[in-house]
Amino acid sequence: MPVARNSVVLIHYKLTNDAGEVLDQSEKDSPLAYLHGRGNLIPGLERELEGKQSGDKLKVTVAPADGYGEYDKDLLQSVPRSAIQGVAEIEPGMQLQARSDEGVRMLTVVEVDSDSVKLDGNHPLAGKTLHFDVEIEDVRDATKEELSHGHVHGPGGHHHH
Ligand code: ZN
Repeated sequence: MPVARNSVVLIHYKLTNDAGEVLDQSEKDSPLAYLHGRGNLIPGLERELEGKQSGDKLKVTVAPADGYGEYDKDLLQSVPRSAIQGVAEIEPGMQLQARSDEGVRMLTVVEVDSDSVKLDGNHPLAGKTLHFDVEIEDVRDATKEELSHGHVHGPGGHHHH
């Protein structure tokens, strides 16, 4: 069956940057499972998978606007070191979780000096062109429960009790 809205799709993928470095990939023997058409994948990738079939292989290049967004300099901020609690050693490259009314946000530590820390609220892949190698392993209908949760259950998906 072709990939369509509310299909459960199992994919193997490899994500590389412009330099060909591997940024992320699915683990061998454990494909990623996602619910199609519900915003669980970045738009540029989801669009290319639409209508494809089990066994199809594709290469997809995704521009920042269709991926994790353009890089936004306004999301850089400096905070007093004392504002970060529960972390013994703060180092550049480290990711911190910030809780707010809008939920949890990931912040990347860019710079640390004696009394302040520079944080970047951009997604680590913001502003980057993404290159995906994708192979579709399986396509099936979602169950009622998966549709109501908006995500896939079982292998490659969410597990809850
Ligand atoms: Zn669920």
